[in-house]
Amino acid sequence: MAALRRVFSSVVENKLLIGDKWVSSSSNKWFDIKNPATQEIVGRVPQVTKGEFDVVVANSKEAYNVGRVPQVTKGEFDVVVANSKEAFKMWRDVPVPSRLRMARTFLDHLNANTEELAQIITRENGKPLGDSRGDVFRGIEVVEHTLSFGSLLMGESMENLGKDLDTYSYRHPLGVVSSILPYNFPAMIALWAMPAVITGNTLILKPSEKVATTSQRIFELFLKSGFPSGVVNIVHGGKDTVDYILQDPDIKAVSFVGSSSVGTYIHQQGSYYGKRVQSNMGAKNHAVIMPDADKEDAINAVVSSVYGAAGQRCMALSVIILVGDTQSWIPDIVAKSKSLKVGPGNDPKTDVGPLNSVELKQKVEKYIEIGVKEGASLLLDGRGVKVPGYENGNFVGPTIFDNVNVNHTIYKEEIFGPVMTIVRVNTLDEAIELANKNPYGNGTAIFTQSGSAARRYQREIEAGQVGINVPIPVPLPMFSFTGSKGSFRGDLNFYGKGAVNFYTQWKTITSRWRKDMAEKAQLSTSFPTMK
Ligand code: NAD
Repeated sequence: MAALRRVFSSVVENKLLIGDKWVSSSSNKWFDIKNPATQEIVGRVPQVTKGEFDVVVANSKEAYNVGRVPQVTKGEFDVVVANSKEAFKMWRDVPVPSRLRMARTFLDHLNANTEELAQIITRENGKPLGDSRGDVFRGIEVVEHTLSFGSLLMGESMENLGKDLDTYSYRHPLGVVSSILPYNFPAMIALWAMPAVITGNTLILKPSEKVATTSQRIFELFLKSGFPSGVVNIVHGGKDTVDYILQDPDIKAVSFVGSSSVGTYIHQQGSYYGKRVQSNMGAKNHAVIMPDADKEDAINAVVSSVYGAAGQRCMALSVIILVGDTQSWIPDIVAKSKSLKVGPGNDPKTDVGPLNSVELKQKVEKYIEIGVKEGASLLLDGRGVKVPGYENGNFVGPTIFDNVNVNHTIYKEEIFGPVMTIVRVNTLDEAIELANKNPYGNGTAIFTQSGSAARRYQREIEAGQVGINVPIPVPLPMFSFTGSKGSFRGDLNFYGKGAVNFYTQWKTITSRWRKDMAEKAQLSTSFPTMK
């Protein structure tokens, strides 16, 4: 409760995490975090200065590198002994089982503090409390999965590949790596970075400046869990900070989640500067409703998916393709959408909370205006919705456009708000062709009772995540979160086995221990063959 009071009684100053110290920035540029339901300023986030950033990188490198011992004189040797003791604590050499035990303690802290974290999320992101709890829980699941990294970090080996010759490969961490986060899942996506740590890397985290307090609280709990100082550092800011990260030669990999324009830039720049980069980006997710679908189940699923988190989920089903007779279900879809309650996230009755900022609200309203101008049929207009007591909130109510076609701007671009766009087609073929032409390919879903339609859809649709009668098929972390076409750049995916691949590099050792040490290598300049 004390922590809750601390977080909720004042404007939270978000600090940099350098080693195990939370440091106030000396920056003269700050971002305000506003409660999306009220516009009250609830937090401040500094634009980290270049000097502060350099200290953080040096610190992360130190934590990774301390295991190295220089060649020394006697005097230096004494220093090296002390240094080696220090190095013992350091991360790369911390045994994997010990790392896993810390992760287990971290899980205990996360579970014990879920409610507080959910409250922080609702306060700075705006989403309803139940949704915020889900945000924390899905992050906790990623940490739970890291407990299985003991097996996933194992290498490969084979003996006797030549005379007295064995080969084995280890997975080694990369060094200092960085995660750049979006605003829409303040806890879950911050915790997507945990595989970086458990695989032995040190991490520089850059939270979204819009929701940084959630990361601050999560990594306070992290430090309480026994992880050594310097394993995770936090820097704040906007593009300047991202550019420091991209250009720093000591940072070996960048994991980004956010919009397509920023993700494309980060992938290009990061690759140019020689880093491993993964970018999960924007989306336009299609749901196909077949005439044989269970009507109530399908309508409940798509309506929940379109309007959950006020449409601010990268897996929201924003395009609903109604096949054949299902077009007669439109009045029921409109009625269900209308029945949702718009309100502040801390009201347990709220279904649709505010958008995260005034700018996002204006952007969504602009898209609605464009949809009308371009001739789509506006069946439900969420503009101008009034929430008593929250007149300054960034609310847009459920909105539905019918008769949307592929040339409409509201079809082509990601709106990231509570706006459903309905496209009518006659066959599954048409639905697949249409969805596959869309440049995005994050998630999709089909609703049907036909195994053969479902199987065809799953094989032919070009999207990273496919749901069959499942509206938001975000995979559990024993699988990876993927993406296709314009929704993903890179080749190694987030969490699960993909993350172990992303955050480690192979080292392959070939050794010869002669059975008969009297045998010698032949003098030969020919390329060796394993005989
Ligand atoms: P965003 O791209 O605006 O911001 C993401 C991060 O990039 C933030 O940390 C921000 O500080 C930084 N940033 C912003 N502008 C920048 C610039 N010009 N140069 C460099 N860095 C910059 O994204 P957002 O608004 O926070 O998040 C919403 C977007 O994220 C949506 O497009 C959504 O689809 C996407 N998203 C995708 C996934 C996925 O897994 N595919 C998951 C969640 C969100």
